[in-house]
Amino acid sequence: SVRTRFAPSPTGFLHIGGARTALFNFLFARRHGGQYLLRIEDTDRARSTEEAVRQILDSLEWLGLRPDEPPIFQSRREARHAEVARELLAKGRAYLAFDTPEELQQARECAVAEGRPPRYDGAWRDRDPATAPAGAKPAIRLKAPREGETVVPDLVQGEVRVSNAELDDMIILRSDGTPTYLHAVVVDDHDMGITHVIRGDDHLTNTFRQCAIYDAMGWTRPRFAHIPLIHGADGAKLSKRHGAVGALEFREQGFLPEALCNYLLRLGWGHGDEEVVPRDRAIALFDLKDVGRSASRMDYAKLLHLNGVYLRAADDDRLAHDVMERLAKRNVLFGAEGAERVRALMPDLKERAKTLEELAGAAAFAAVEGPPPMEPKAAALLTTEARARLADLAQFLSDAPWERLELERWLRDYAEVKGVKLGQVAQPLRAALTGSTQSPPIDAVLAALGRTEAMDRVLAAVG
Ligand code: GLU
Repeated sequence: SVRTRFAPSPTGFLHIGGARTALFNFLFARRHGGQYLLRIEDTDRARSTEEAVRQILDSLEWLGLRPDEPPIFQSRREARHAEVARELLAKGRAYLAFDTPEELQQARECAVAEGRPPRYDGAWRDRDPATAPAGAKPAIRLKAPREGETVVPDLVQGEVRVSNAELDDMIILRSDGTPTYLHAVVVDDHDMGITHVIRGDDHLTNTFRQCAIYDAMGWTRPRFAHIPLIHGADGAKLSKRHGAVGALEFREQGFLPEALCNYLLRLGWGHGDEEVVPRDRAIALFDLKDVGRSASRMDYAKLLHLNGVYLRAADDDRLAHDVMERLAKRNVLFGAEGAERVRALMPDLKERAKTLEELAGAAAFAAVEGPPPMEPKAAALLTTEARARLADLAQFLSDAPWERLELERWLRDYAEVKGVKLGQVAQPLRAALTGSTQSPPIDAVLAALGRTEAMDRVLAAVG
């Protein structure tokens, strides 16, 4: 059955390009009823950190891309990588190379001077190891094919090929006994039973070399799918200067994971012009042949729009819970009643917000106890005349049944009786209740605050 893997190097946070690679691996596995695995490629000890591992796992969890099996740590498999290298040696598909660093350096300089690509010349391919200087420590190099070509039927790029004359005998095990990256990936993918390698197209050239290892071991090659990278709006590789790039940065900014996943899916994959493709539908439709071959451009405005769509469809309890967490982070003080008021207003609040951060900002007034902080524009509405009007209105509303539709009717009646426009009543009332000039419908605000809290706020504004 199908087995895919996402194989990040824990040298930094999870980039959204990586998140998209993980998503494609996840969707492809789900589509085919297979498994999606995670391998942490932490062999670069100097650059890999625990913190990065933690962040990657946290990001995948947030995105709903948790692997089906516990993660494999590449660094713990070095003995196995060495074992396979020695097996290749025993089969005569690899050889000991005793070149000194100086010799290699010299050969490189020579090649560069002559305008040739710096390939290893295979000096030790046919040389007798017995002729090696005493005590010299050899590396193990793969005996790569020299004739013919390596052809890879890529599921996204189509058939890609390279002449074998262009590939040299790469090191698979260094003289210090550590495996090289290309070799470790092949051994791991084989041992993990990976059937489909879906990764960024920056790895395409590695694939030819990796195929040589599969072939030498007599292992079946997996199918490969190299997906284009994500670029910024200007066509350059996506980076910090374009905006947020880390998956968790989007969480902080108030994006919903399902909106981000939907956006990343649509970036480079399409099913007609369907924009909103929830996960279940994505699993049903996902196919590598619908992944484009050219780099896609990150469009933050489009993502924001999509986030708004998902926000409006999201469950109110979940949104309220998230918003309360964000308010607590902002040191907004609230109690159980405040949380209840925010929850009651959520259906109206979410109509106006594009991110959870915006939503939290718009909900703060309902969370706090007593009069909310007043925006200058709102304070300006509370003229002497408006305050007198509010005092009068408070009197009028003291008998009103505290229910949204009733409150709406009472406000209309009040405006009609007094011969003023509804706005002349509602705007100062909004300022008093929310400290802002914008909010959900005033009747919804009144109802959610409750009689006591609403009246306290009005009376505080009247002074
Ligand atoms: N560790 C590699 C990276 O983070 C991925 C290698 C692979 O998918 O084969 O770019």
